[in-house]
Amino acid sequence: MRHLLSLYKLRAILLFGVIFIILSVSNAKAYQTEHVVVVLIDGVRYTEGLGTANCPRLNALAAQAVIQDSAFNDSITVTSSAVPATWMGRFYPLQDTTYLGNDIQFCRYPTYWEYARKDLGFSANQVIYVTPNYGTGTWMPSFYPGYGPSYWPQFVQPPISTGNNNIACFDSAVTVIRRQHPKVMYVYFPDTDHAGHSGIWEDYLAKIREADSLTKALWDTIQTDIVMANKTTMFVTNDHGRHTTNFTGHGDGCFGCRHVMMFAIGPDFKRNVHFNSPRARMTDITKTAGELLGYQSPYSTGRVMIELFDESGPNCHAYIPGDINSDSSVQGSDVTFGVRYFKGLGLQPPDSCFIDSLNGYLYIRGDVNGNCEFRGSDITRLIAYFKGMADLAYCHWVLPVPPLKTDIHKETRPIIHE
Ligand SMILES: [Zn+2]
Ligand SMILES: [Zn+2]
Repeated sequence: MRHLLSLYKLRAILLFGVIFIILSVSNAKAYQTEHVVVVLIDGVRYTEGLGTANCPRLNALAAQAVIQDSAFNDSITVTSSAVPATWMGRFYPLQDTTYLGNDIQFCRYPTYWEYARKDLGFSANQVIYVTPNYGTGTWMPSFYPGYGPSYWPQFVQPPISTGNNNIACFDSAVTVIRRQHPKVMYVYFPDTDHAGHSGIWEDYLAKIREADSLTKALWDTIQTDIVMANKTTMFVTNDHGRHTTNFTGHGDGCFGCRHVMMFAIGPDFKRNVHFNSPRARMTDITKTAGELLGYQSPYSTGRVMIELFDESGPNCHAYIPGDINSDSSVQGSDVTFGVRYFKGLGLQPPDSCFIDSLNGYLYIRGDVNGNCEFRGSDITRLIAYFKGMADLAYCHWVLPVPPLKTDIHKETRPIIHE
């Protein structure tokens, strides 16, 4: 009797250990990215931007980058709405207030700097906004409860230098990278839009070439920095384009105004790939950066641009078959989540993997009958598993880590239920 009891205890300890290992692996940080830099080039029409002769350096760098050719400003195509939208990960008009004795405009929802500082504990000098010094006209992040000024970035603001703000911002950004190795940085290049408004075609193109050159030089600075090299993801985008039929203006819903660049490069992303679907928005950067760095952005309406991620990396492997809702355990709530999804009542599963062999995406955790599809039959299988009538399988193209053996499933099942 005594012998049996100790054996039981030993089994319990071993099983607990197995569960702990599984949870640890699935909760491990899946990405190499430790720094995110966003470069916003103001008001470049897609037809003069990436992929054209005006952007030779980014075109060359594209061999190491992933490009979303189907990226849009899907709301107001003016800078005062669109730039803050890239911070908040959503569109919402700026609001006026008086702050520290000045009339300012601020974001109504938390910005990606605030999310990163709050969730990841970064100090202000690790989280940077580089923009010309517009004085009290500089748009501010939010005062949202739970976020707000104590989570704002450090503002790095070179003096206004009309016509040369791109270079001033670039110089400031380089200084900050070398001195502070920021975790989160946003660099604003305004000159392209102003050159477009000037109506002088050659000036507009020259400013695009300049922004192309400076953006590539910024990436080179990052990749030669002792701290940031190979651990930094950079997004390059625009706030809006310009009218399809008239480059001097923008601000309506025409295709030229809406279509923007979405260029992304970093250790966790695909290389030398272009996508035309799914549709992306520049407001998706907030959530995508959060996925990489590990912060939540609950008020962003954007999505994680999963299509950018290199599926040969660890993020599509550290999974547990049957964990449809990605909470690191397999429970009845996964059945509920799956049923609601198939009925069109609930969200799609949080994780999706691109599988080359299928040339498509699979909700990998949901495929518990191992046929490389996620369907109602998988829910049936999961229910049968909970009744002890079936085992879980997985798509053979994407092996889970750690590889789950059938006996581990069976043994952990009653403990997970308790
Ligand atoms: Zn403009
Ligand atoms: Zn337009």
